[in-house]
Amino acid sequence: MAMKKETEAKKKKKTAKEKAPPSYAIQEGTTFRQLCEQLNIKGKDLIEALTGAGFNVNINDIIEDDILPSLSEIIKKPLTIKSIEESIKNQAMADEANLVLRPPVVTVMGHVDHGKTTLLDAIRKTNVAEREFGGITQHIGAYRITYKGKPITFIDTPGHEAFTKLRARGAQVTDIVVLVVAADDGVMPQTKEAIAHAKAAGVPILVAINKIDKAEANLDRVKQQLSKEGLLIEEWGGDTICVEISAKEKKNIDELLEMITLLSEVMEIKTNRQVPAQGVVLEARLDPRRGPLATVIVQLGVLRQGEAFVSGLCSGKVKAMFDEQGRPLKQAEPSVPVEILGFSEVPQAGDLFQAVADQDTADKIIAYRRSKLKKKEGPARPEKLTLDQLFKQLEEKEKKELPLIIKADVQGSVETLCDLIPSLSTDEVKINIIHASTGQITESDVLLASASNAIIIGYNTKAPAKIQEVAKEEHVEIRLYRVIYQLIDDLKKALAGLLEPEEKEVYLGRAEIRRIFNIPRVGVVAGCYVTDGKILHNAQARVIRNDEIIYTGRIASLKHLKNSVTEIKKGYECGIVLDKFKDIEKGDIIEAFIIEKETK
Ligand code: GDP
Repeated sequence: MAMKKETEAKKKKKTAKEKAPPSYAIQEGTTFRQLCEQLNIKGKDLIEALTGAGFNVNINDIIEDDILPSLSEIIKKPLTIKSIEESIKNQAMADEANLVLRPPVVTVMGHVDHGKTTLLDAIRKTNVAEREFGGITQHIGAYRITYKGKPITFIDTPGHEAFTKLRARGAQVTDIVVLVVAADDGVMPQTKEAIAHAKAAGVPILVAINKIDKAEANLDRVKQQLSKEGLLIEEWGGDTICVEISAKEKKNIDELLEMITLLSEVMEIKTNRQVPAQGVVLEARLDPRRGPLATVIVQLGVLRQGEAFVSGLCSGKVKAMFDEQGRPLKQAEPSVPVEILGFSEVPQAGDLFQAVADQDTADKIIAYRRSKLKKKEGPARPEKLTLDQLFKQLEEKEKKELPLIIKADVQGSVETLCDLIPSLSTDEVKINIIHASTGQITESDVLLASASNAIIIGYNTKAPAKIQEVAKEEHVEIRLYRVIYQLIDDLKKALAGLLEPEEKEVYLGRAEIRRIFNIPRVGVVAGCYVTDGKILHNAQARVIRNDEIIYTGRIASLKHLKNSVTEIKKGYECGIVLDKFKDIEKGDIIEAFIIEKETK
């Protein structure tokens, strides 16, 4: 019966949607006067009607969100406000006649010490230095080379931090990921992470097996490991391009560049040069002499010196632009990274950058953004998925996928979960595991989740306090479980929209065990020093040794000197007895937490 009702409601919603007149999108920062001009309405009439509806506005005011419903009613047209970047991008990509190819932007990713920096240096040295003799290379976050007359842009911050941080802010600059895997070391945790990040972003991966000069190099083993991660190389019948290189000896670097060029040609990466320039802030800093500086990678249009722009909550005028050799540029084409002078303040990495007609337009857009921010009392962020609200959000957005990141204590658990969880997918919702690995939850996991709107599921693992902070900032949900059936049960319930209020672990504090006492009739007492937060006498606790959890349970007694106490704060000593656990050692960390039921 309930099902029937639901389908009917859905049907109704659909018909309503179909019948509604198409909405008219106005660009952020538009004034009432501009809207009247666009729609050929008399300004005076509009202001009168708005005044009649209780709004005290001037024809030169910016249209804000809260007036939209009334305004739409008055002009009998549903209105929406679009960001200038979105309007320009839509306009640019819809104008097929003006779409042209642009050079690829490449990010080098892979495990630490596998040779990312060496490779970026080798590429720069062999292809830039000889061309630009005398140029002084500067770090601006990206550089350009030309290989056989074809330009390629490399992001100069190796690793996935930058890649994911930008994506978490909604920006994507990378067209191709070069995954560096050391031939002597093989696929390592960060290699897997990099694969997950690139896949989640839908960016093709080109593998560079590095350090082939080393005696320990074992190419077959690496290829085997890669195939296990879903990257089957061409030689083995797959479609992943793989180049064997030595970054140190500059061997096969040309082959790698050749493959990048080929792949980018197949991908047909397109742009439109005929729209106001748009790009992404890669890096930004305050230079003591020159003021706020930012590297922007242009994606659409051609950026010219003197143009006004907006970027996040900053505006400005391009006073000067420089390339990675410090040479001034008058204009920057798509895929060109440039350091820009002329920001009102330091923008944030990941902010979009948009050239606008003039300073007045820039001011109006910034005024709109600031007022919106003020009303929201927090940065405007896309709504993120939580398991509690999953069903509602899935319904509303007609979302068909639940992206998950799985972290577990041991490889066996990871494998079990990866087998079990996808089978819970229903006709309506497909569960998609975008990354699964062993160990604690890391910042990289949170950023990946944020960028992919995923939920992190931890099984017998933990999220350190610092990571929980990041998750909070990024609005990413982390759910920790100790029992598999409960995890499965929650997922099943969430998919059916039946999840009970969530139980949340709240971190209290940490104490380090400095001495151990064996006290008759009491048992083993941990003589501790509270290094962070506080410990409560009725808290739950876990013992951590060498980053591994060796016990999870409860604090049975908490004493300061000889007295039982309810709480001990950071900087004090205390004696802790753990419930049914004696196997403690000097140097172990006791972490206290409580479980709170969160009612939403
Ligand atoms: P990253 O952490 O991935 O940026 O790695 P680096 O570029 O800093 O390289 C780590 C170490 O590996 C350095 O000592 C490099 O000299 C060395 N290395 C990098 N590429 C090669 C290579 O092709 N062959 C050999 N033998 N060593 C390399």
